[in-house]
Amino acid sequence: MSNIRKIEDIIEIVKKRNPGEIEFHQAVEEVLFSLRPVIKQHPEYIKSGILERIVEPERQIIFSVPWVDDAGNVQVNRGFRVQFNSAIGPYKGGLRFHPSVYLGIIKFLGFEQIFKNALTGLPIGGGKGGSDFNPKGKSNEEIMRFCQSFMLELYRHIGQFVDIPAGDIGVGSREIGYLYGQYKRIRNSFEAGVLTGKGLPISGSLARTQATGYGLIYFVREMLKANNYNLKDKTVIISGSGNVAIYACEKIQEYGAKVVAMNDSNGFIYDKTGINLATIKKIKENERKRISEYIKYHPCAEYQEGKSIWSIKCDLALPCATQNDIDIKDAKHLIDNGCIAIGEGANMPTTNEAIKIFHKNNILVAPSKAANAGGVATSALEMAQNSMRLSWSFEEVNRKLDDIMTRIFKDVNEVSKKYNLPSNYVAGANISGFLRVAEAMMTQGIV
Ligand code: NDP
Repeated sequence: MSNIRKIEDIIEIVKKRNPGEIEFHQAVEEVLFSLRPVIKQHPEYIKSGILERIVEPERQIIFSVPWVDDAGNVQVNRGFRVQFNSAIGPYKGGLRFHPSVYLGIIKFLGFEQIFKNALTGLPIGGGKGGSDFNPKGKSNEEIMRFCQSFMLELYRHIGQFVDIPAGDIGVGSREIGYLYGQYKRIRNSFEAGVLTGKGLPISGSLARTQATGYGLIYFVREMLKANNYNLKDKTVIISGSGNVAIYACEKIQEYGAKVVAMNDSNGFIYDKTGINLATIKKIKENERKRISEYIKYHPCAEYQEGKSIWSIKCDLALPCATQNDIDIKDAKHLIDNGCIAIGEGANMPTTNEAIKIFHKNNILVAPSKAANAGGVATSALEMAQNSMRLSWSFEEVNRKLDDIMTRIFKDVNEVSKKYNLPSNYVAGANISGFLRVAEAMMTQGIV
């Protein structure tokens, strides 16, 4: 009983100490409550303050990012880097550029990253960063000037053995290229391993672009297999139409599933004949336009605004856009429509209440910490190639990614069974990632 109380006390402290950071509170609650059975078996973690220490970032950096727009006006954004936990390796996690970014979002993402990175089995700690800069509608030159100003502060906090940023929402290989160019100029050093998600001409890795989306599908494939389902002929909805969504769509189509709907922050397209991914790539990757353009090329498809994408009937739902995308109302729609599984490509895309109702109704949930770990795992493969000064083929990286995702599912599945929570992969992922970090923290003393 006293252990349970302890977890609730810690959550209260987190809420008081980090007022208003609701996404961070949500992420902490979700993880800590699921750790109850572990804490019962390991009272030494309580004694060593593992929980109190794991919810407090080791370092939080907030800085101003002044830059000049194309009209000659001075703009000022806010930059963040939260170095959350380095128990098993240097901090690693993406940068998000989106107007909604504030400390609470970066902290929730950094906190989740600790467990995700541990699940990969690779030596990487947890961190995250970003800015409230909105890349939408900006020229290439504005993006470049912003990235250069951002790096003018960030460079002093990162390094290949210290902290290795990567991409996230609004940050792809173009932005990583500008950030890397500025880092190299300031340091006068071609330290390729300081950033991942780089383009191929600057020591990026083949298959990194595809990794998060492909990895999600490998994980979902394993989860379905363990529950006597498969991907073939399944009807799928994917939210988002960015990096993760596009490559999840590509891979699941290869397995014979039919993706019928995708969206962006304005609205969704529904194409009952199956989404044409080449059109999505043209609109989103090449032209950086809105998804509504799709119906110009495929007039039989529908475009809708102001309605939830999750109201469409599907077998599999893959939220690949942003946090809290599926709430309890959406969850009920999905359940009523016969959905069998959720595969979280985005970070924390399902509210805690929605996850509960999915579990109650025996809907399988592939949790983001495990299911989207393919991105960071492949980033670690990029770091390995950079330090060896060589590059692996697409097939080799993809094979390693598949192996890693298959192994992560196996671990998560075994741990969920071991703790008497079969098919609760959310708890399995949290416990499995936590145990690795907690053991590493125990061996290093109170630091
Ligand atoms: P992108 O910027 O490439 O794409 C984001 C997509 O989500 C866009 O289609 C965007 O639409 C949409 N989106 C963003 N906010 C909203 C919103 N409020 N409502 C509806 N749609 C929205 O980002 P990624 O694909 O890289 O990232 C997507 C998710 O995956 C994020 O949660 C990220 O943290 C997670 N992730 C990404 C990894 C990676 O390797 N890239 C690794 C692990 C996790 P619009 O263009 O209109 O904004």
